[in-house]
Amino acid sequence: MLKDETIRRVLKFRDDRDWRQFHTPKDLAISLNLEAAELLEIFQWSGADLECRDKADKLREELADVLSCCILMADVCGLDLDEIVNEKVTKNAVKYPVEKARGNAAKYTELH
Ligand SMILES: [Mg+2]
Repeated sequence: MLKDETIRRVLKFRDDRDWRQFHTPKDLAISLNLEAAELLEIFQWSGADLECRDKADKLREELADVLSCCILMADVCGLDLDEIVNEKVTKNAVKYPVEKARGNAAKYTELH
């Protein structure tokens, strides 16, 4: 779990360097997607190797980058991460009721 202290540390890192001025929502969205691509790259050409075990070090770094981008974007856009994640889980619970979605990977539009 991310602690408030950790979120403040990410924001302090930015503010100590006066980087807030460069963090427009557009550029943060670009950065978030680039970091997500770096995360994806860890698994590129990995064949049937779908485990995290041998990729743990790189995975830790890229997942941290993705989360840091989320923290920065939420701050710039005035969003509370805990609140928006909870809102989304509530929406998804309606889209994917347990009785229809349990053990089923189908998209909600395909659940019958
Ligand atoms: Mg990265």
